[in-house]
Amino acid sequence: MVIKMDKTHKLLLLSGDGIGPEVMAEAEKVIELLEKNTDISFSIQHGLLGGCAYDQTGSPYPPETKQMAHEADAILLTAIGGPMWENAPFNKRPEQGLLDIRADLNLFANLRPARVFDCLLDASSLKNDLIKGLDILIIRELIGGIYFGEPRGIENLPDGKKRGFNTASYHTDEVTRIAKVAFAAAKRRKKQLCSIDKANVLESSIVWREVVTEMAKNEPNVTTIHMYADNAAMQLASNPAQFDVILAPNLAGDILSDLAAAITGSIGLLPSASLSEITENGTAKGLYEPVHGSAPDIAGKEQANPLATILSLAMLLENSLDRKDLAQVIEDAVSATLNDGFRTPDIARSREKTITTSQMGDEVIKRLQISLSGKRKAG
Ligand code: NAD
Repeated sequence: MVIKMDKTHKLLLLSGDGIGPEVMAEAEKVIELLEKNTDISFSIQHGLLGGCAYDQTGSPYPPETKQMAHEADAILLTAIGGPMWENAPFNKRPEQGLLDIRADLNLFANLRPARVFDCLLDASSLKNDLIKGLDILIIRELIGGIYFGEPRGIENLPDGKKRGFNTASYHTDEVTRIAKVAFAAAKRRKKQLCSIDKANVLESSIVWREVVTEMAKNEPNVTTIHMYADNAAMQLASNPAQFDVILAPNLAGDILSDLAAAITGSIGLLPSASLSEITENGTAKGLYEPVHGSAPDIAGKEQANPLATILSLAMLLENSLDRKDLAQVIEDAVSATLNDGFRTPDIARSREKTITTSQMGDEVIKRLQISLSGKRKAG
């Protein structure tokens, strides 16, 4: 499918739970501005996913959302979940909705960039010299491994105790398709790939390592190394700058990407993309979401940082709609906003003045407006 410049792009917006609607409102301001000031046009639908969907329909991924998700060119999600659904049936919990939509749309490649903004070096728990200029891309396999393996379940034992069990498995084809995405990304970047596994103890990891090793033979321009997941966690915390692209199985990728997020300062700043097969023109259908969760502790307080959601929109424009130009304008506006000193509480130092979620969105909009009107004049 080739996306033409004059096409109206179908976007599905899923505001989710907790701080979700607050941060989505700021991304919607950006969408509106792009429509008014550039050649892009969107047809927007809103859908339910997660706890709000369960409350209204009895399912965390209702059929109406499923239909809209299949019809959309790309989906922007904020976050789902929260303590009020802790007692919902296990297969109806908000998190199940997220797992279902990823599997349903075959979103096997999760891209999580972890970049450090120079002006926020002090927000990290690591020393400045360890993280200055840090720019890592974690590529996590998203619909295989132990999160999806069968059999799984909880067995009630005759002695009244229980046994919970899951299956970790990887098939050659599952590893091949995610490794392809990782090699392609490494070639666009510093040409360094670190593949993560636990091949010292897990058979699924032995297959993972064999496949990546074989593929690396055909990628002479990429330096490929293998690292056990536990060592990778230690290396990320002690010398993160050694990494460029990290390729990881589902569970290890989940943990390592949160660790990478933490060392950048705030998870309120990190976007992610979950992609299906990449088409001939280099785009893929995708679900884009901030790395953070629904942050129930600050929901409704106007304290949430909307930048991760706005940056997820930038990733959407680049990876699903082939509009790297607009993605760049958004990223520049976010950088400029941070450089000008605007801070939500999560990224503020102790005595720094903070602004609200919607004020942060407005500051990004101001800088976007200036940049887009400059481009129009130049054009
Ligand atoms: P969380 O990411 O929601 O919150 C962790 C901490 O980070 C909290 O202190 C929170 O206030 C803060 N935080 C998160 N996002 C922020 C933002 N944009 N701005 C400022 N601060 C922010 O993780 P959690 O507390 O472990 O989980 C809460 C709920 O979110 C759970 O129900 C969990 O299952 C769900 N969750 C959903 C997703 C998702 O939708 N992809 C991801 C992770 C967690």
